[in-house]
Amino acid sequence: MDMNKTDVIVVGSGPSGVSAAITLARAGKKVVLTERGDDSGDKNMFGGEIYTNQTLDIFPNFIEDAPIERSVTEQAFILLKDKDSLKFAYNNGENSIPNSYTVNRSKWDRWCVEEAKKAGVFYAPKTLVKEIILENGRAVGVKTELENYYSDIVIIADGVNSILLEKLGLRKEIKDSDVTVNVKEVYKLSEEKINDRFNIDEKSGFGAKILGGPLKNLFSIGFLFTNRETISLGVGISLDDLKKIKMKPYELLEKLKEHPAISCYIKDAKLIEYSAHMIPEGGYNSVPQLYSDGIMVAGDAAMLVNNVHFEGTNFAMLSGKLAAETAIEALNSSDFSKKKLSLYEKKLKDSIILKDLKLHKDSVSFVKKHINTITEIYSEIICDIFKTVTYSSSQPKSKVYRNLLFKILKSNVIFKSIPIFLFAIRKCLKK
Ligand SMILES: Cc1cc2nc3c(=O)[nH]c(=O)nc-3n(C[C@H](O)[C@H](O)[C@H](O)COP(=O)(O)OP(=O)(O)OC[C@H]3O[C@@H](n4cnc5c(N)ncnc54)[C@H](O)[C@@H]3O)c2cc1C
Repeated sequence: MDMNKTDVIVVGSGPSGVSAAITLARAGKKVVLTERGDDSGDKNMFGGEIYTNQTLDIFPNFIEDAPIERSVTEQAFILLKDKDSLKFAYNNGENSIPNSYTVNRSKWDRWCVEEAKKAGVFYAPKTLVKEIILENGRAVGVKTELENYYSDIVIIADGVNSILLEKLGLRKEIKDSDVTVNVKEVYKLSEEKINDRFNIDEKSGFGAKILGGPLKNLFSIGFLFTNRETISLGVGISLDDLKKIKMKPYELLEKLKEHPAISCYIKDAKLIEYSAHMIPEGGYNSVPQLYSDGIMVAGDAAMLVNNVHFEGTNFAMLSGKLAAETAIEALNSSDFSKKKLSLYEKKLKDSIILKDLKLHKDSVSFVKKHINTITEIYSEIICDIFKTVTYSSSQPKSKVYRNLLFKILKSNVIFKSIPIFLFAIRKCLKK
């Protein structure tokens, strides 16, 4: 047998690649998982939380064995005004299984790869795939900096900035409107201080999405997560808006950090890490061709992110698994044609991935159109309503109510909200 020939080569050891590789190895297939970084996770960053459902599906032992930071037991939305703010928080109760866990990507990705190796995956770090080798239009392997490796199928899972797909002509250059630029800072603080500050204990954790304040009128959202002894704080903004406001992403994050509702969380904490990364935001309309002869594309490379619900790693894991299941069927029938691999698209269509992306195919453009109402007026009006009901003033309540009513009517928020509610109702009723 040719030493350089295997059943499947997976390019990229992020959540999509490692899930594809481990699924193949568990089915007894020979699989090589390539990673350009010195080790898995070295090049990766995210918010971030991994979701329990899809993660359990691939790694049934992860809650006991993986290097988890915290379970996310409290999920909040923080609405900012200029100085004041409002926090809504959902707490999932002590006894239910948390929906998500925070992890550090370098530790997490490395643990996943170790699990994949135990299942029989051959892992090749420091291996940058430069090109897909085609023979008569069919992928037969990959060209790396050192040598060529051959396989019956190649699964491309190289992330949002997939140069390989562009080279193959399977994806056009990414449009500014199809991605957000994200910057994240990590702050070190003792476990006790984090627990005190967020009112949590060692078994629980806090996650938040941040709207308004310096982000108002922008397609931009902040995020904050507690890890065991660190806090992750970041902001994402569409490339379109970034160009409009002529600011650097970290300048926007600096402004966010100045807000008293945010600065209180990182007070006296030590900045230990800074990173930046893109997220695909184009949704359904930006999904490229997902398969070709001998090729399948998974995860961010295929733009499979549900930006409305902040779901990326779960779609990456599930799409990697579905690509692997298709590859297993193709290997069993020795048919690696485009027609056979079209089964992958069918599996994606039958799964939550393409169902959810299709449901939200017009959501980003809709949100962008109504961004002023959503980030400015809602943050301000909702803050004002809560302030009114909680504030003890020297004025009679009838006057306070009247002033609030006039403010609401003047902002036109009721009229401006009609299309937003109708849009939401349409989404709820869609089959
Ligand atoms: C700031 C931020 C916050 C986020 N927060 C969340 C969150 O809280 N929850 C969530 O579910 N999702 C979140 N996401 C999205 C999530 O991180 C991605 O959807 C997910 O990582 C995609 O996984 P992937 O395996 O497809 O790609 P990646 O994780 O990008 O992995 C791709 C891998 O391929 C390797 N690679 C690239 N090119 C090559 C090559 N030519 N040869 C070999 N290897 C290569 C890379 O080094 C990398 O290891 C966030 C993203 C960002 C940027």
